[in-house]
Amino acid sequence: MSEIRNVAIIGSGPAGLTAAIYSARANLAPLILEGEPSSTSDQPGGQLMLTTEVENYPGFPEGIMGPDLMARFREQAVRFGAEAKLEKVTRVDLSERPFKIWVGDPDAAEPTYLAQSVIVSTGAKSLMLNLPNEFKLIGHGVSTCATCDGFFFRGHNIAVVGGGDSAIEEATFLTKFADKVTLIHRRGELRASKIMQDRAFNNEKIELLWNSEVTEIKGTNKLEGITVRDTITGELSSMAITGLFVAIGHRPNTDLFIGQLDLEDSGYLITGVGEQVTATNVPGVFACGDVQDHTYRQAITAAGSGCSAAIDTERWLEAHVHS
Ligand code: NAP
Repeated sequence: MSEIRNVAIIGSGPAGLTAAIYSARANLAPLILEGEPSSTSDQPGGQLMLTTEVENYPGFPEGIMGPDLMARFREQAVRFGAEAKLEKVTRVDLSERPFKIWVGDPDAAEPTYLAQSVIVSTGAKSLMLNLPNEFKLIGHGVSTCATCDGFFFRGHNIAVVGGGDSAIEEATFLTKFADKVTLIHRRGELRASKIMQDRAFNNEKIELLWNSEVTEIKGTNKLEGITVRDTITGELSSMAITGLFVAIGHRPNTDLFIGQLDLEDSGYLITGVGEQVTATNVPGVFACGDVQDHTYRQAITAAGSGCSAAIDTERWLEAHVHS
């Protein structure tokens, strides 16, 4: 076990890395526990590592690819003295200070790190359809990431599942590669914003399949097709596609904190406890980004809340630890 850190930041998406930039510039030498590169749900850099071109992040009028944006965030944090480690937190003990953090074996007697304060920025992960074959065929035709995998579907006939902004964003991006993209939605009306809906309706490569759900994902070593059920008539039909992109929403990564931090029924962390906007119910533990935001869920709002968390943490440390 090493020295007691001022602040440990768990998670390295826009929220965590912005918190790192601000707390590094406040001379707090933050430790960032970034997650593991091999993980699909806790990947360093967060969801932008799996996203398409980001066109709405201020300062990039031409747009920027998600992974490039996150590489810039990280470089900026490290430049000011943040220590970034490609490690996945497996357990925390927030019952007393200094807070205890384990990476690796969660049953190890001694924690790996001790910290006076913690900023939780573990984000959220993609939801899946939970059909047999779905996980097995990820990377073999099934994907949650158009940016990562779109290129492989040049000239193909593919489908996207979902009716929200993510599904339309993915479908639109995929038309750069695929000949035809079928957007499969379980209802007769999209959830996506009007501007995104128009984008889908006006794209001649996108075909809407309403009131339909995927019931089977076919293929042994690679995706060979799907079965779709009409939710009104119950009729089943086969669709021969080589790519299936699942874009049905997200779940916050809060399992580590169950029983220690207050969560909403939906699993999101509760913040704004007391006077500080990013404070959780445990003094000295703050949270920012998608792990506590089910309303906006944008990179820019995550980054903004990361800044707030760093300032809240700095003030809390000043009042309770460094005074
Ligand atoms: P979302 O808004 O929650 O939409 C999820 C979609 O998936 C819904 O249409 C839902 O259907 C469908 N769905 C959920 N579970 C399903 C299942 N098991 N099988 C089939 N379909 C299922 O999630 P999102 O699209 O990821 O967007 C999340 C947030 O990020 C939103 O606030 C969105 O505005 C924002 N966002 C914004 C942008 C942008 O502005 N550029 C881009 C992406 C995301 P129902 O409609 O029937 O519930």
